[in-house]
Amino acid sequence: MEVVTLTTTISSDFRKLILSLFEGDSLRYCMQCSLCSGICPAARIVGRFNPRRMLWEAFLGLENEATLGENVWLCLGCHLCLEACPTRVKVSHVITLLKNLAAGRGNMPDGFLQEVNTIFKTGRSIPSSPAIEKKRLELSLPSLPAVDVEEVRALLKKLNLPINNKRGDGK
Ligand code: SF4
Ligand code: SF4
Repeated sequence: MEVVTLTTTISSDFRKLILSLFEGDSLRYCMQCSLCSGICPAARIVGRFNPRRMLWEAFLGLENEATLGENVWLCLGCHLCLEACPTRVKVSHVITLLKNLAAGRGNMPDGFLQEVNTIFKTGRSIPSSPAIEKKRLELSLPSLPAVDVEEVRALLKKLNLPINNKRGDGK
């Protein structure tokens, strides 16, 4: 008989951190019913993505499972799970917390990283341009309001995201 050894690491600090963050405490009310996974469009397409399991990993303090790999980035942020949860766990918000923590560990797909760097640089995910301003004028829309870029940068820095690394341009 083949003996298979499974190892994992439980981090009580990670568990405490998640539970202490805004909306993270709602994890305590998860009863693992899987309604969130059942309604999730990403889980329907990618079988290995499972929001219920992600919440369970976060609650147990399985930091590597919850924040490494690409799983966490498969969430579309559609919030259907949020509406489906019978115990009002803030499912999609907790997954956003996991995304932030994953990014803080350097796990962030290039597309997201580029977007963060654009926000860091301009304060917007889609920077204004002469063409955009011209189109707004044609549509009788007002000019885009100014953005306090320094404030946006201060907020992003608090998230400990990999900004300004060799792939970034956010200066
Ligand atoms: S729907 Fe709510 S209670 Fe059910 S598994 Fe998902 S988060 Fe937990
Ligand atoms: S927010 Fe993410 S986890 Fe929730 S239903 Fe949408 S894709 Fe699935």
